[in-house]
Amino acid sequence: MKVCKFGGTSMATPESIRQVESIIKSDPERKYVVVSAPGKRFKGDTKVTDLLYAAAAEKERYGVAGASIEEIRDRFVTLARDLGLETDIDSYIDEIEEGINNAQTADYAASRGEYLSAIILAEKLGFKFVDAAEIIKFKFDGTFDAETTNDLVKALKDIEGGVVIPGFYGRMPDKSIKTFSRGGSDVTGAIIARGVDAEIYENWTDVNGFMVTDPTVVKNPRQMSVLSYEELRELSYMGAGVLHPESIFPLKGSGIPINIRNTFEPENPGTLILPDTSGCPRASIVTGIAGRKGNTTISLKKAMMNTELGFGRKVLSVLERYGISFEHMPTGIDTMSIVIADKVLNGIEQAVLDDIKGKVNPDSIEVLHNLALIAVVGHGMANQIGTAAKIFTALFESGVNVRMIDQGSSEMNIIIGVEEKDYEKAIQAIYYAFFD
Ligand code: ASP
Repeated sequence: MKVCKFGGTSMATPESIRQVESIIKSDPERKYVVVSAPGKRFKGDTKVTDLLYAAAAEKERYGVAGASIEEIRDRFVTLARDLGLETDIDSYIDEIEEGINNAQTADYAASRGEYLSAIILAEKLGFKFVDAAEIIKFKFDGTFDAETTNDLVKALKDIEGGVVIPGFYGRMPDKSIKTFSRGGSDVTGAIIARGVDAEIYENWTDVNGFMVTDPTVVKNPRQMSVLSYEELRELSYMGAGVLHPESIFPLKGSGIPINIRNTFEPENPGTLILPDTSGCPRASIVTGIAGRKGNTTISLKKAMMNTELGFGRKVLSVLERYGISFEHMPTGIDTMSIVIADKVLNGIEQAVLDDIKGKVNPDSIEVLHNLALIAVVGHGMANQIGTAAKIFTALFESGVNVRMIDQGSSEMNIIIGVEEKDYEKAIQAIYYAFFD
């Protein structure tokens, strides 16, 4: 049987929820449904989750939640009415308002969008509502408790008929609600798929799947029909936003495929994400190109660095002390560069540099801001002569200056650092070198 997760756009309007209903009802294998909170109905609209965070902020600031609660009430009451449901939404909203006003956390507030979304869909489908707080568990230290959760999710298999579960949150041992990071309903879907041993995890969203690259940079890029867990991880970490980057962890070792599908174009087969894609025909040796701006490189030079024992360790221990995780670390004989996202360096850059200087006494230390990283990803690249040549020829011909190159040891990706002003040009050049 199948686990289906429906995202915020799919749950945003009565029409989209009817569409969700028809998708589920068209296949009796679609038995476990995970939902997001209602998302944007139109450009400029606010997601219910953001309204809930705003309500928590109002309570923090003024002592009580105000206008945002009324907006949330309005959205859910309208949905329930237009779908012809009997659930007394007003009393749920009263309860949520009370919770927020009585010292519940922002996580509690944020989770209520998914909670109500699941209640509504369960009634519409005639499925059972199962609260995520009862089955998704965290440990005392706030990390996800995979073992306990898996046992609880397994028990869902005993339920007859379909089940709707809110995404995004679970419960701490002290009974408080905790959410995953934003977009975390994707992770919930994966956890459920693992626990019930689904034949497939369908992730229904508002696009036809993964595009080879960002459609705001390249017009109408090709759709990826298939990619591997590992490729997905690389691409989503680098900014391909269709699926939460942590969605594959619960599925590791299970072999369960993920299928990205479009609620608004259900006839499109979408993108299939498999643990192993070795037998699958591919359109190109490059599977995808993703990237993000906002990085800084710290470059150290020191004569005879290669013979100085502990040099790298000392530098990295400084980063560790400041709680900085780095992105890449290309090295030469007497040079070492560390690429770090700006957002983690903000406010502490000078202190970090001073500390590094003190620890390893480099001949020079240079900082380069405004670096954009681009990942060219594809399993096929490892065995294909000339891939790098093709990439760098394309960049050269477009007049893009390459500031950094790092090839992952798996040879599944080549990371290229360019100045932010060249980012779009670089992505376009690489895309058109492999896809016409
Ligand atoms: N509603 C949450 C968010 O907006 C979680 C999700 O949709 O997956 O981040």
